Amino acid sequence: MRNRWDKSRLEEIGDDEVAMRVFTSNLLGEEEDLVLHGGGNTSVKGTAETVFGEEEKVLFVKGSGWDLRTIEAAGFPPVRLDYLLRLGDLKSLSDSEMMRQLRLALLDPQGPTPSVEAILHALIPHKYVDHSHADAVVTISNTPNGDEHLKQIYGDEVLILPYIMPGFILARQVAEATRDLDWSTLKGIVLLHHGIFTFHEDAKISYDNMIKLVAKAEDFITSNTDTNTVAHAESNIDGDDCLQIVKLRRAAGKLFGNPVLVRLDTTQEATGFASLNNVADLATCGPLTPDHTIHAKAFAAVFDAEPAAELVKFENTYREYFQEHATDAHQCLDTMPRYGVWKNKGMFIWRGIENAWKLSVTLHSTRFVLFNRVRH
Ligand SMILES: [Zn+2]
Repeated sequence: MRNRWDKSRLEEIGDDEVAMRVFTSNLLGEEEDLVLHGGGNTSVKGTAETVFGEEEKVLFVKGSGWDLRTIEAAGFPPVRLDYLLRLGDLKSLSDSEMMRQLRLALLDPQGPTPSVEAILHALIPHKYVDHSHADAVVTISNTPNGDEHLKQIYGDEVLILPYIMPGFILARQVAEATRDLDWSTLKGIVLLHHGIFTFHEDAKISYDNMIKLVAKAEDFITSNTDTNTVAHAESNIDGDDCLQIVKLRRAAGKLFGNPVLVRLDTTQEATGFASLNNVADLATCGPLTPDHTIHAKAFAAVFDAEPAAELVKFENTYREYFQEHATDAHQCLDTMPRYGVWKNKGMFIWRGIENAWKLSVTLHSTRFVLFNRVRH
């Protein structure tokens, strides 16, 4: 994990705390091992002037629809801090009511909806709060005795809490767990199977702590893993296979409801994975953290011989999965997989194209963003 701090930017940032928040958020967003597109969130506490000319304490928190890699000041809408803290004191609040209240707490009603984790950011009594879904931390957390390993790595400098779905209950959990805590002794909070928070009055120290803590997790994995066990295999794709890919793209577009791109990764690592005897179990056991389901869905498609004809299996499995877990409040999204395994051939990635002019952007991000997801 490389520290990307660049002091040459400090002069233009000056003492603008939101500009500083944008800067270190972009640094986090550039590291795909910390956050995938749209994942993670950050905030800074400050003041903003109301229409009455009064200063109000606010939380500038990442708004939905923004990506940390490219976020700008407009992506951090000011939210009334006291209002958020009062929400955090409530005994219960449904998800839908919480989202309504977050919008009510905005200083600008046209601002983007604050992150679902805004109340949690408000409850952490430090100026800068950074949150990522770091691969290394979640990987260790997902192993047997993961919490013990994390305690061994971090000692007392990190608070480790069990998994709770992001939202109001998670904010309450952190509030309860930190009620009598001396925050000055703490460098971060790990939420098992979810991610990690760091925080400080100084943006650089909060960012540095994120990099240092994640690097410790990466070192632990390196020293406890035999990397020679990664499978490698050669893929051989012939003309019939290429025709299959074309048919698959068309069939996937129908499930998505719009044209899509598909890419087959035939690197030795991807083909090696696709050639494992238990690849179907591995590819469908769930993502690294629930946050990844937003962009990668909960499981991959697995194909034997004819992907285009076998795509219906994924569609049916996805619908069954939805029926099993949905409540009346849920709506089934499109049934197109986001990544898949073609046994002995390689791995697929799909990307929807909403508009033709987005094609070049999509090609770029398919290669550099979605491709990266498949590694996990
Ligand atoms: Zn999160």
